[in-house]
Amino acid sequence: MAAMATASALLRCSRFLRACSAAKPFPNAFLISSAPLRARRGICRISASLDEEASAKAAAATADAGGLTIFDKIISKEIPSSIVYEDEKVLAFRDINPQAPVHVLVIPKLRDGLTQLGKAVPGHTEILGHLLYVARLVAEKEGILDGFRVVINNGPGACQSVYHLHLHVLGGRQMKWPPG
Ligand code: AMP
Repeated sequence: MAAMATASALLRCSRFLRACSAAKPFPNAFLISSAPLRARRGICRISASLDEEASAKAAAATADAGGLTIFDKIISKEIPSSIVYEDEKVLAFRDINPQAPVHVLVIPKLRDGLTQLGKAVPGHTEILGHLLYVARLVAEKEGILDGFRVVINNGPGACQSVYHLHLHVLGGRQMKWPPG
C-alpha cells in the first residue's frame, strides 16, 4: 500500500515536472511567487534550471578538448536535421527543442577554434559577420523579419550546452525582456 502511494506520488511529480518544463518560455526564465501553486511551479523551474546549469558545467569541462560535438554529425549529415539554409561556410537548421515557433540554429561548418564566441580572434571576423548575415536571411525566409531575436549563449554562466559556436534565431511570438 505504502509502495503504491509512493509510486503514485512519483508519477504525479514526474508529470508535474514534464508539464513545467514544457511550459517554460525560455530555458532560464524562472520566477518564484508566494502563491502556493506558483511556489510549486517555482520549485519545479528552479530544479529544471539547476539541471541545465549542471549539464552546462559538464559540457564546458570538455569544451576545449577538441572532441566532436553533435553539430559535427549534423554538418556531416550523419544525423538528420531540418535544414533551413546552407552554403559552403554555414549551416542553419531547426532547433530540436524549440523555444519559439521559429527557432533556428546558425553554425559555421568549420569550427576553427570557435567553441564559443569568447574564443573569437581577429581572424574570425569574416565568419562572424557571415553568421550574423545568415541569421537575417533565415529571419526573412521564415517570415519574421519584423520581430526576431538572435542569441549566443557563451559559457556555463549562460548555459551553453554545445561547444561549437551557434546563433539562435528566435521569433514567431512576442519576445519579452529581460530574457532570463
Ligand atoms: P546552447 O544551449 O546555446 O548551447 O544551445 C544548444 C542548442 O542545440 C539547444 O537549443 C538544443 O536544443 C540544440 N540541439 C541539441 N541537439 C540538437 C539536434 N540534434 N538537432 C537540433 N538542435 C539540437
